[in-house]
Amino acid sequence: MTSGSAARPAARERAARRAAALARAVEDGLLGPRSPVVGLLDVDGVLAAVDALNEAFQGPAPVRHAFAAKACGLVPVLRLLAEAGMSCEVASPGELEQALAAGFTYDRLVFDSPAKTVEELEFALAHGIAINLDNFQELARVDRLLAGRPAAGPIGLRVNPQVGAGAIGAMSTATATSKFGVALRDPGAVDAVIDAFVRRPWLDRLHAHVGSQGCPLPLMAQGIRVAYELAERINDRLGHARITGIDIGGGLPVNFDSDDDRPTYADYVAELRAAVPGLFDGRYTLITEFGRSLLAKSGTVATVVEYTKTAGGRPIAVTHAGAQAATRTVFMPDAWPLRIEVLDAGGRPKQGPTEIVDIAGPCCFAGDLTATGRELPVIEPGDVVALHDTGAYYFSSHFSYNSLPRPAVHGYRTGADGRVRFALVRQAQTVREVVEESGLAQAGALVALRAD
Ligand SMILES: *Cc1c(COP(=O)(O)O)cnc(C)c1O
Repeated sequence: MTSGSAARPAARERAARRAAALARAVEDGLLGPRSPVVGLLDVDGVLAAVDALNEAFQGPAPVRHAFAAKACGLVPVLRLLAEAGMSCEVASPGELEQALAAGFTYDRLVFDSPAKTVEELEFALAHGIAINLDNFQELARVDRLLAGRPAAGPIGLRVNPQVGAGAIGAMSTATATSKFGVALRDPGAVDAVIDAFVRRPWLDRLHAHVGSQGCPLPLMAQGIRVAYELAERINDRLGHARITGIDIGGGLPVNFDSDDDRPTYADYVAELRAAVPGLFDGRYTLITEFGRSLLAKSGTVATVVEYTKTAGGRPIAVTHAGAQAATRTVFMPDAWPLRIEVLDAGGRPKQGPTEIVDIAGPCCFAGDLTATGRELPVIEPGDVVALHDTGAYYFSSHFSYNSLPRPAVHGYRTGADGRVRFALVRQAQTVREVVEESGLAQAGALVALRAD
């Protein structure tokens, strides 16, 4: 492992930028009584992650890094990544349109979804968007849609190497019974996949995404090795290099314990090079689909403490960030613990005596807690609580429980003069919009149905 010293100064700088942005957000009123929860995103941190990714994979093999849009489906974020030279992995019509709106051209998209409709497949085929097919029924569907014509873009088949689960079952996509891809260890599956390639000249990629958060690097590398060996076997069988691209998915885990980037992309590539050396020799184009690891550590959810109280002797701080903004952490607290920082009403890190406290959100269910039993500086109403490392799958994956509005998201940069500049990424949803989205135009529909 090489994740040590080189990463640390960058991590310290990122923490310093975040501290400056939090103070400034309070000062500017981006966070306050009228907007008690916001998402903040460090633009330089995101671009540094893209650089680290490009650097780690540099080598003779051509590489296309596609950002997994579900990790942060915000158009300005996608545009930033498009400008930085990335491609984009999308898995729903909404993500596809977001990516197009962000400026990704068709040739820089990868369309994955286990449930692509005929219409979605037709769209992808018509525009030459790379697609990864999930199962044999989908292969047969594409046979019908192509009707003997060649494909305009790359078409891959997703395989499940069935190498097992990581630490979080719900995030592990290479278990024996995972819903994704063709399960290679099932009886007859490998022969059926080989046969599928023999019979379809347009099939030219293999895809494996072994899992997200919680999968150790050796397990991920083992899964990619299975896909690589299958590609070699298929190309041998066909007598030529039909499979020209291997899509290794995403899934680099993120360290939620500290500011350090651990593991790094370089760590993962070292692991891959050791386990699958042939992957990098230039015979295959590599496609990656990282999401969380590109964005998580550059994002912060910041919220104002509305009240403090005790129950059964336990101090509780009631904030405005709960299940709507930190869904996974609230519902699976053991799998998704977050670092919590307490700041004073001016947005400066709070010092002084500590207490063991629960941090609660605004939702009306008892489990709406972003942290329990944490030792933190004594919290008072008006203080600010920051949830760190929440740039992916948090403020961008809103959950509309209690009809809580989507909070605003602001990007930030620090100038040479140390001054923080903000750019609005997503406007806060208004209460009016919440009401409109909840069927306002059909307000009388059910009463009318009953009257008929
Ligand atoms: C979610 C997903 C990714 C991204 O995973 P991360 O853990 O965010 O890197 C990549 N590929 C596919 C197919 C996915 O479903």
